[in-house]
Amino acid sequence: MIESFSLPPEAAEPHLRVPRRALDLLKSVPALAPRYAGHEKVLTLEDLAALPPLVKDDLNVALAHLRPAAEHGATWLFQSGGSTGAPKVGYAPTGFYMDGVHAHWQPLERDDVFVNAWGAGRMWGAHFLAAAFADLSGCQVIALGSVTKDEYGDWLGFCADREVTAFGGTPSVLRLWFAHAREHGIRLPALRKVLWLGEAWHPQLDEDLAEVAPDARRWGMFGSTETWVAGTNTPRCPADVFHLLPDQLVHLDADGLMDFTTLNPDMLNPVLRYRTGDAGEFTACPCGRPGRTLRVLGRRDSVVQVRGLGLHVDDLLARAEREPGVTRAQVVVTQRRGRVATVDVLLLTGQDAPPGLAEGLRRELMSATFTLSTAFQHDPESFRVVTADALISNERTGKTAGLVVRDEP
Ligand SMILES: [Zn+2]
Repeated sequence: MIESFSLPPEAAEPHLRVPRRALDLLKSVPALAPRYAGHEKVLTLEDLAALPPLVKDDLNVALAHLRPAAEHGATWLFQSGGSTGAPKVGYAPTGFYMDGVHAHWQPLERDDVFVNAWGAGRMWGAHFLAAAFADLSGCQVIALGSVTKDEYGDWLGFCADREVTAFGGTPSVLRLWFAHAREHGIRLPALRKVLWLGEAWHPQLDEDLAEVAPDARRWGMFGSTETWVAGTNTPRCPADVFHLLPDQLVHLDADGLMDFTTLNPDMLNPVLRYRTGDAGEFTACPCGRPGRTLRVLGRRDSVVQVRGLGLHVDDLLARAEREPGVTRAQVVVTQRRGRVATVDVLLLTGQDAPPGLAEGLRRELMSATFTLSTAFQHDPESFRVVTADALISNERTGKTAGLVVRDEP
């Protein structure tokens, strides 16, 4: 079982006072106390692995009761999810724990000109986190945030004039920037570093960067609004492999589902076996840096229930994106009064898309996908495949998920 932790006992166990404090805090939350009954002491990694895991809703119940406050500086509230209704909230102190990140990962140097293109506002933390990181690096910062579609050209021209050397954002947003630059023949010859956080890296970015900024290399951060940055990688690491920070203790269950426990005494969120929904595996990184590294395998909740049947969204997306002319696909599930009313597959297509693409793909998916043909047996028109000008993005974070679930009254 010890092999299922990112740190060996001798490295982790001296720091278990932090998880012990988190356990005491969680026990003080009336709604959560019963689940921790019988868990008195966390002295070993075995004790830790015996604790029940936490999910986002549990953490929000805990934070609503605990209302943590930073010991130094301000206490910041950020959205930690929830696409409908009131935002779910996570907490962080000024600095956002970035000194611990900077101690192990330094893509930016004093002479860099860094564009912070993570969106700011609407209680999303990434822009502020990147700003805190840039502060520690001492570089020049251009706090661009998010811009609208028709502004890309002007801003790219500005970035070229300023000889921007580093550019950071969510991969979905970076794709918009660099695809626009490529399409319009804009070059950023001084760009060396592309910082990313918030989603998996996308291979399309490599293709666009090869033309727009051939010397640019990717530098990734991995984490969540609850755990903050958990790991980082460099251009010499595969894009899905991350070196964990020493105060992040990651545990994998038998199915590879990850949970996170913080060993950082300043952490405001009581992160104790916190599950993000992502799966992973420990691996050795070809860059040669020692220590256990984590390969992130993506979400394990890509199965959505459609009228009592499981729909494998990733399979559907992979099939759609194999189709010539399809650059990206998205599954949109619309629910009315708790029941799935429609399933739409939205397609972003290139100029090589053949006529009748959507109709042909719809016919094939309907006949080849048991869940679709069975669930929509009586109303086949409720499953649609349509080409779209744009996929549905979270306007706060710029992230474009493969699956969007909408509730309509
Ligand atoms: Zn590496």
